[in-house]
Amino acid sequence: MRLCPSVMHLFARWLRSCSRRSRNRMPQRLREPLSYVQLLISSLYFNSLTNSDVVVDSLFEPVFWMVDILTRWFGKVFVFLVVALTSSILFIAYVCLLPMVLNTYTPFWIVWHVCYGHWNLIMIAFHYYKATSTSPGYPPKMKNDIPFVSVCKKCVIPKPPRTHHCGICNTCILKMDHHCPWLNNCVGHFNHRYFFSFCLYMTLGCLYCSVSGRTLFIDAYNAIDHFKHMDVEKQGVPVTGVGLLIGIVPQEPMTVKSYHTSSTPYTFKDRMFHKSVIYMWVLTSTVAVALGGLTVWHAILISRGETSIERHINSKEAKYMTKRGKIYKNPYNYGKLNNWKVFFGVEKKSHWLTRVLLPSGHVPYGDGLAWDIYPLKKDMMPV
Ligand SMILES: [Zn+2]
Ligand SMILES: [Zn+2]
Repeated sequence: MRLCPSVMHLFARWLRSCSRRSRNRMPQRLREPLSYVQLLISSLYFNSLTNSDVVVDSLFEPVFWMVDILTRWFGKVFVFLVVALTSSILFIAYVCLLPMVLNTYTPFWIVWHVCYGHWNLIMIAFHYYKATSTSPGYPPKMKNDIPFVSVCKKCVIPKPPRTHHCGICNTCILKMDHHCPWLNNCVGHFNHRYFFSFCLYMTLGCLYCSVSGRTLFIDAYNAIDHFKHMDVEKQGVPVTGVGLLIGIVPQEPMTVKSYHTSSTPYTFKDRMFHKSVIYMWVLTSTVAVALGGLTVWHAILISRGETSIERHINSKEAKYMTKRGKIYKNPYNYGKLNNWKVFFGVEKKSHWLTRVLLPSGHVPYGDGLAWDIYPLKKDMMPV
């Protein structure tokens, strides 16, 4: 997409030079009326601010519009997916794993799994609900005295520092990080903490399932492998759990008999248990890796006092300054620990427990309209 404006620019120049050359070859009596017609046409759409970027943006406007519509629509599908997949894991945990834990584990491990599992579940559900339902924060549309850095071309309102326009929400967002389809919401000043905490606790939950279920997964994988060999040995009679459930597979009474009276102790319930364990382990491990990477990336950004959008802006600015022999300093970087304290709203030590490790609906530091610039005065920040 970055190449498009320059390509269009070159194309426009080529067109202009072609028309100039052909006009020079025309006789005088044709050249004048043609110029007049051209002047008339160009007066209909002339704008002194138009350049190749604006033309390309206008040409691609229907494409952007379609992408925005699709993202808006897929947002609801993605939210449904998050809820449905998480619920399926919960179902497996309560129906298959919890009875097994209660029957076979020692009291210490029972307490650990019940306490940790439920704490993690509450943290995931709370932060996901808050991240999707909390407004990210919008700049005021009415006239005000708040300092601003630019004017939004689409909303035609002043933009406070760190504010950016979201094409999907079609409005400006305070301290915008990105538009998240998995939340069907923009991530901005008022829900950034909820978004990050959700990513963190979802990653921890998936890691917990993946690590504590690894032995069960290996056992289940071996058992399923064993079933397959058994099925091959029975010369094409596909004995599957689903088949037994709906009663279509065992075509001969002998097959049913041999299945139930064979030396193997596996039942339909065992097969479903093993398949559920495999499904849970594969899903949670995949999410742990993918979401874990995203969480680490956001943690790096928070340590630097940047949002995802500012990361691009700041790296461009840093390159520009380096070329001129200067060093760029992010004005919103208050130092690693202070950045985390500001992000989580930690004002005293006990807040690490009550505001980070337990569900908390406190509002973030500041109003998102005006920002303290580094270096800070001592009494400016509650850290
Ligand atoms: Zn805007
Ligand atoms: Zn948005």
